[in-house]
Amino acid sequence: MTEYRGIYAPRGLSLEKTIAFYSVKVGDCVFWRHHWDQPERPAFLRWQGKPQLVSRLIWASEHGPVPRGRPVLQECGHRGCFALKHLYLGTRKGGRKGNG
Ligand SMILES: [Zn+2]
Repeated sequence: MTEYRGIYAPRGLSLEKTIAFYSVKVGDCVFWRHHWDQPERPAFLRWQGKPQLVSRLIWASEHGPVPRGRPVLQECGHRGCFALKHLYLGTRKGGRKGNG
């Protein structure tokens, strides 16, 4: 197989089905099944012609477009996780909820 930072979405599948097809649930977290054992590896998907962070796509599908300059972070601390309930909008790049 070709090594690639993300995966290509099969033609004709919705974003939701594409992600469901390639992901796996580990505890409360959701990871790409081809690197579920590397929870800190950000999950990318080639979608609409460019590699995109799955966490952002998932968040946007629920809440609308991610505001410019705002990161989507994971409460569980796993950068590769894209379980919707673990995702939250950070205040700025590199910022964390409850910054202190
Ligand atoms: Zn998680």
